[in-house]
Amino acid sequence: MNALPAHSIEDRLHILRTRWDRYLAEGSFDQFIEFAVAVNSLAEHLNRLRLPGLMRLSEGLENAVLAKLGDPSTHPIAQPDAVSLQRQLDALLGSVATSQSAPAARRADEPKVTLSDSGWVKPRSVWMIAAADRREAADALARQLKFFGFKVFDLEWGAMQLPDDKPLAALFIASGAHASPEEMASIGAIRASCPASQLLYLGVQPAIEPIVALMRAGIDATIPADEPPSTVINSILDLVQTTEQEQYRVLVVEDSRVAVALIQRTLEQHGIDTRTISDPSRLLEVLESYRPDLVLMDMYMPHFNGVEATRVLRQMAAYKSLPVVYLSGEAEVAMQVEALRLGGDQFLSKPFNPVLLAAVVKTRIERFRETQRSSRLDGLTNLLNHTAAKSRLNAMVSQRAGQGMLTVAMIDIDHFKSINDTYGHPVGDQVIRGLAWLLKGRLRATDLIGRYGGEEFMVALPDVGADQAKVVIDRIREDFSALPHSHAGGALYASFSAGVASYPVIDTAAGLTEAADEALLDAKRLGRNRVEKSARAG
Ligand code: GH3
Ligand code: MG
Ligand code: MG
Ligand code: MG
Repeated sequence: MNALPAHSIEDRLHILRTRWDRYLAEGSFDQFIEFAVAVNSLAEHLNRLRLPGLMRLSEGLENAVLAKLGDPSTHPIAQPDAVSLQRQLDALLGSVATSQSAPAARRADEPKVTLSDSGWVKPRSVWMIAAADRREAADALARQLKFFGFKVFDLEWGAMQLPDDKPLAALFIASGAHASPEEMASIGAIRASCPASQLLYLGVQPAIEPIVALMRAGIDATIPADEPPSTVINSILDLVQTTEQEQYRVLVVEDSRVAVALIQRTLEQHGIDTRTISDPSRLLEVLESYRPDLVLMDMYMPHFNGVEATRVLRQMAAYKSLPVVYLSGEAEVAMQVEALRLGGDQFLSKPFNPVLLAAVVKTRIERFRETQRSSRLDGLTNLLNHTAAKSRLNAMVSQRAGQGMLTVAMIDIDHFKSINDTYGHPVGDQVIRGLAWLLKGRLRATDLIGRYGGEEFMVALPDVGADQAKVVIDRIREDFSALPHSHAGGALYASFSAGVASYPVIDTAAGLTEAADEALLDAKRLGRNRVEKSARAG
């Protein structure tokens, strides 16, 4: 399993700027393609980091660039077009710079480890803009968000003075009627000043017109008025975790070496890993060992053609939904329709446009991973489930390869059976969810957080030693024990016990889990509501 290449936002911006400058100076079509690929790659990166506002800007630029890709003879492009692209590029670079300079609201005792995989530390603050008659709901939400580690700023609708600290999310809580023109203007103003933030609108009517109007004003997601507060908290907490970090893998089945070289070059520029076979008879064997996210399939090859190979794939449970994109010089529509009918997902004509190829491959893979992802998440908490947590820990340990630290914590809620027995199962579920939220809100995006069993959680903290991890988990323990869980008759309080064990003293995933579990048992034996280090942790 490979990590993504360490291209930070800065690297990508630098590449983008240099390529644009080079094109301005020399003006060749090839240089323009290089620039287009850099724009697309940045858009993709922003998408992965879940920065919808910046993504919108980069997609706007991408569309303008795509419009100039059709005809090589129009290059270098005319001066007014260059000026307009320059303006869009400047707007994008400027917005990235403002959002990056925002100081991150982190707890003082949180491990100060930079998120090297993303180069991006997200602010953990939320702006709340509530209608006067929704004050009470807003206050309740604010209290919960604060518990889960967020800084909440209350703003007035139409506030002239916006805080300097750009938020992770801005939450508009409307009174239920249609948003007024003043409210729309206020949304637009916040959108403009916080391009990287997620804008949520709570209290929308289920009708298409008002939702489209809100989206045009800059809202990223709307939440119906009758949704429980947990939906809001869940959607804000989901922003904290970065998405899939494993490198995209594409299997290229193609007998032309020229086509293979072009494809590999294009996909590599987007950080996508490729494996190539020229003979489809090896397809099944390579699928099994390489586990691609997508197959690029030539139509005409020796022995079998691409359509026949795809039909075989579609008969196997493991590859039923694996995306297959055909590459072919075939221009005939009837033939393409037939190829799609027999199990392909899309058709790309050769010679292909590299930007289109990369965009098709990446969006197909994203969707494929998204559907795979839901089978890896636990339904109650949205955390990794048992199997996924175990496999992620395995990957984290093998990635270490003897370098640096990694601490695993096993966490188990105390006397949970009696909470269920006294207050009922649904209240028990809410306590489990509360702990999940607290962990998500307090830990870093790069940390593993999984629901390992019923009321048992697994956490893994890269680059953190046992002592530091113990401090972090102990702080969460203290806060969890002060978190009220409401039930019909009032509020109840729960606690958890935890055990920690560290790499490299213990150097296998199974060993770490076992040692952390032993330490957890020690914590239970010593009276619960405490964190113990593994005796083997040295
Ligand atoms: P200890 O302090 O020793 O951990 O005691 P405990 O009562 O927490 O431990 P035990 O393992 O005996 O109880 C765990 C209980 O969790 C038993 C099971 O019914 C309950 N449970 C498991 N999954 C769920 C769930 O998804 N929701 C709810 N509400 N309860 C669950
Ligand atoms: Mg061929
Ligand atoms: Mg328990
Ligand atoms: Mg248990």
